[in-house]
Amino acid sequence: MRVAWIISLAAAGLTGAATVAAAVIAGLVVSASGVPSWPALGLQGMLGALAGAGAGFAAGAAVRKQLARLRATVEVVEPAEAPAHRLSAPLEEIARVHLDVVEQLAGECRSIRSQIRQTEIRKHLAETEVQHLSDVLHSLRDAVLVTNEFNELVMANDAAASLFAFRREEALNKPVNKVLREAQIVGLIKEAAEAGNSNSRKHAECVLPRDPEPLNVEVSLSSLADPTREASSVVTILHDITQERQVSRMKNEFVSKASHELRTPLSSIKAYIEMLLDGEARDEEARREFYEIIQHEAERLGRMIDNMLNISRIEAGMITANWENVDLVPIAQDAAELLKPQAAEKQIRIHFQRPHQACHADVDQDMMKQVITNLISNAIKYTPDGGRVTVAPDLTDCDRSVIVSVSDTGLGIPPEALPKLFSKFYRVDKHERVAKGTGLGLNLVKQIVESVHHGEVGVESEVGKGSRFWFIVPCKQGG
Ligand code: ADP
Repeated sequence: MRVAWIISLAAAGLTGAATVAAAVIAGLVVSASGVPSWPALGLQGMLGALAGAGAGFAAGAAVRKQLARLRATVEVVEPAEAPAHRLSAPLEEIARVHLDVVEQLAGECRSIRSQIRQTEIRKHLAETEVQHLSDVLHSLRDAVLVTNEFNELVMANDAAASLFAFRREEALNKPVNKVLREAQIVGLIKEAAEAGNSNSRKHAECVLPRDPEPLNVEVSLSSLADPTREASSVVTILHDITQERQVSRMKNEFVSKASHELRTPLSSIKAYIEMLLDGEARDEEARREFYEIIQHEAERLGRMIDNMLNISRIEAGMITANWENVDLVPIAQDAAELLKPQAAEKQIRIHFQRPHQACHADVDQDMMKQVITNLISNAIKYTPDGGRVTVAPDLTDCDRSVIVSVSDTGLGIPPEALPKLFSKFYRVDKHERVAKGTGLGLNLVKQIVESVHHGEVGVESEVGKGSRFWFIVPCKQGG
């Protein structure tokens, strides 16, 4: 009982390694003498041994302090115990011999502690690295999925979760075919996992059915082979190429449309010249008519080429505006007057709504005239015979900007077409038969108003009732 009490006292009084060492000494003493020696050793003797052990510690001072407290406690508790000098020599010898063991243990404890510190530092670094990698993974715009050899999803970034509409916490560790609805992607992952043991990379292009439009994605699959297993883990990266595909489709469409549109006036010019050369225009009146057609077609050709060049110049930042502070009212009126003959051909009336005051703004006059002409020309083109077009310039935004609106009683534009209307080459499908065009006019309007004049363009429309196109430019540029 007393032994146990002393050991627990020692355990309470000493810290970590010292406690272990004291316990070890106790064990060694018992085993060396072959009989339980603690009672014979006496408390003072044991304290002597512990004191010796304490002296071997690196943190010896602290241990010695603990021992002194322990010794004092024991003297109070058992004053009648045998004094230290009565400690038998063999036992002292044993204690001394085992002091080395204590020192060794203390050294090992120190080394373990330093190893623990190093491990903690390494763990912290590894955790930081993992967090960093996870931040990188989640910041990627491409969707990343990692599956194991059992085709279970083990990692997915935010882009993947949003592309395939799953919640990451719920999807992880589930079979990939339960997480993704796209059988094609699931099939590709399975194929890559079973592709064999070599580290391989595969590319494919897929169309994902999505609302409102399908997505084109480029899929890269890398199998991470493990020679000990039959299947591989697979890293799947999905890159959205919808826009690239759209742009290249539009470019192709534009090239074919533009060449078709350019060919039409060219063919007509060629045909009339041939007729003139063949003497098919018998009188002066017929010849004049032919010349006028040739002139008209040549002008149309020139306008188309100009539109294309102007758009690419503005986009390339190569155009410099000829800034002047001018009244936009006469500019709008001129454009309306110029297009009256074109409107008259369809019995369309152009109404010019004159404002009460002048509408001065810093603009490039020619560009403004081009914008207003494009809007009125469209209004005439897409308004059935007998309709009405209204041109209205005015001041707005507490007289800090000028607004010019062109309204018509025409075909109107379906709501789903409105967001794309100012895009290059865009034409409303149903309007293809109504009038010829290249889908460049409104894009040029937008480029001139927004990129060059720092203004804004807009449209409101109702199918079958008509449209109202408008643009706003600030009265003062740069202020
Ligand atoms: P386009 O040469 O085809 O007229 P635009 O860029 O000027 O090219 O116009 C793009 C498309 O917008 C047109 O093809 C037409 O479908 C539609 N659009 C433009 N203006 C109007 C309008 N006033 N009313 C109805 N649709 C219009």
